[in-house]
Amino acid sequence: MGRRLLFLGPPGAGKGTQATRLAKALGIPHISTGDMLRQNVADGTDLGKQAEAIMHAGDLVPDDLVLAMVQDRLGKDDAACGYILDGFPRNVSQAESLSAMNQLAGIDQVLLLEVDTEELVQRLLSRAKDQGRADDNEESIRNRLDVYRDETSPLVDWYPTNGVSVASVQGSGSMDDVTARLVLALAT
Ligand code: ADP
Repeated sequence: MGRRLLFLGPPGAGKGTQATRLAKALGIPHISTGDMLRQNVADGTDLGKQAEAIMHAGDLVPDDLVLAMVQDRLGKDDAACGYILDGFPRNVSQAESLSAMNQLAGIDQVLLLEVDTEELVQRLLSRAKDQGRADDNEESIRNRLDVYRDETSPLVDWYPTNGVSVASVQGSGSMDDVTARLVLALAT
């Protein structure tokens, strides 16, 4: 039985960076719905066309579109022995759908990356300067933080209620420090 991990945490917490590192170390795929959607936008697919404006505003892409994309990805051979999900599920309805597709909610352990709101905004604004991501403008950032608080953060309670443990890890400090904390959280 492989590991099925979920990264939870607000935008800017470093989920993408840390999930990439951990996936490499564990030899399982990193499945980021944000990356997959951005790829669809870049490729000009139907899904990308439907998602682009919604992502730009920092709102959630409709559940049915995201679910079809995730279902397809989880059906690939490399996901048979585990995966790290990043960006999905993003609300209780998505978590229920994943759970209906799988045993034990489709997740064995949740890793919650925690960072202060002030630091998050600073990180996201500086990422906007460095990488030019279309949704890293101040209005979208504030909206994504609100969406996280209202829609995604209830999953921090939903998972334990559904038999899946949540390990909280402090996401501030150097990237290596955070990775070390995550590895420790996995071992326990
Ligand atoms: P961040 O968490 O840093 O804001 P992500 O790369 O995870 O960025 O997601 C970027 C955008 O992609 C989200 O703001 C949302 O519009 C869309 N998105 C990603 N995952 C989902 C999902 N599971 N459900 C709905 N929309 C999603």
